[in-house]
Amino acid sequence: MAENKFVKAKGTGNNFLKIKCRDCENVQVTYSKGSSTVVCNICGATLVSPTGGTISTNAEVLEVLK
Ligand SMILES: [Zn+2]
Repeated sequence: MAENKFVKAKGTGNNFLKIKCRDCENVQVTYSKGSSTVVCNICGATLVSPTGGTISTNAEVLEVLK
């Protein structure tokens, strides 16, 4: 399954999210709202796509850091 499906990180509010890259399982933290693309620190895969509001991500959201 190589399909990269970006979904909105719904219900996360204004918080930091712990996300896991689906390609290499690297875990990193990103903000739930943002206007820039976030790439995996390890493999360079695009993890977060900016929407101007709540981010869209194709990574697995492990935790919302409140
Ligand atoms: Zn990665």
